[in-house]
Amino acid sequence: MREVSIREKKITETGIIGILANVLLAVGKAIVGLIAGAVSVIFDAINSLSDAISSIITIIGVKLSKKKPTKKHPYGFGRIEYFSTIIIAAIILATGATACYEAIQKIIHPEDVEFTWVTAVVVGSAIVVKIALGLFTRARGKKYNSESLVASGTDALMDSIISIATLVSIGVFLIWNVNIDGWIGVLISIFIIKAGLEALFEGISHVMGKRPDAAITVAIKKSVNEIPGVLGTYDLLLHNYGPENAIGSLHVEIDSNLTAEEIHKLTMQIQIKLMEEFHIMMTVGIYAVNKKDKEKYEKIREIIKSYPGTLGFHGLFADDDMKNMSFDILVDFTIKDKKSFIDEVTSKVKEEYPDYNVYINLDMNYSD
Ligand SMILES: [Zn+2]
Repeated sequence: MREVSIREKKITETGIIGILANVLLAVGKAIVGLIAGAVSVIFDAINSLSDAISSIITIIGVKLSKKKPTKKHPYGFGRIEYFSTIIIAAIILATGATACYEAIQKIIHPEDVEFTWVTAVVVGSAIVVKIALGLFTRARGKKYNSESLVASGTDALMDSIISIATLVSIGVFLIWNVNIDGWIGVLISIFIIKAGLEALFEGISHVMGKRPDAAITVAIKKSVNEIPGVLGTYDLLLHNYGPENAIGSLHVEIDSNLTAEEIHKLTMQIQIKLMEEFHIMMTVGIYAVNKKDKEKYEKIREIIKSYPGTLGFHGLFADDDMKNMSFDILVDFTIKDKKSFIDEVTSKVKEEYPDYNVYINLDMNYSD
């Protein structure tokens, strides 16, 4: 629980730094923009203000996501953070669209501006502050696993490009007395819209349920395989309810001679270990395997390997009295017609073991 509160504290702290910095930048740019009568600089100021709003949304998102589970929402409110990513993405997109519109207006109706070296110095300092803020926010976001912080950090870096372009057009105006604001503006707005779309898809992808991070799933399997008595770990499923809260299930292969008491102890051990190490509530399913089936195991492995799209197999259990044989095949997403695939493999296995009823279960490749 201690980790959780540090994460929340750091995200909030980063957000507050962002808000203060952006309000300061907005005020500075608004003043020089109004004095120069330059729409580009005023617009730049409004953009900084929208970043402050992004930071406020990030903080509210983290606070709301910490709400304790209720009867109606027993999995907690962790996914609210993904919605704040989406809302911030919408703000980036709206900013991009507005920038594009403003820039085209400037190409069609060029306006006279009163840029001075003071304007250049203020905008120049704003760029330095903005880049530093963007890099800092993004690094914090990556460190504390906050998509919305990464999104607002990226937004800040994109915004520094706006200010750079503003500075370039101020410079071109001061040196050659040429107004190129509009053309640079269009180019920038395309970059902003692209960043907004990427953040939007990232947020949506989380809400839909994306493949769990390989680093975590590999670590979970390794941790379970270290427990004595576990012969293999398979079929790991993870459902996440926010970056800090996941529920899952997995299958372990164990010796078929273990007693119910031994199996009970083993599953308890796995569940407690995963809760302690990963804060994941895990349901453990058991596959009993007979050691004497080594020959069948090798033969079936060879058969399965010959089919493209198979990634492995496990859970082989052959009941020699009832003449039943069952196992799982792990397949990738290229196998579309599951039924005919199962029929084909079943008949191939039955060629080797004609006395047996063969039951095949297909496992999808849900995690690494
Ligand atoms: Zn399986």
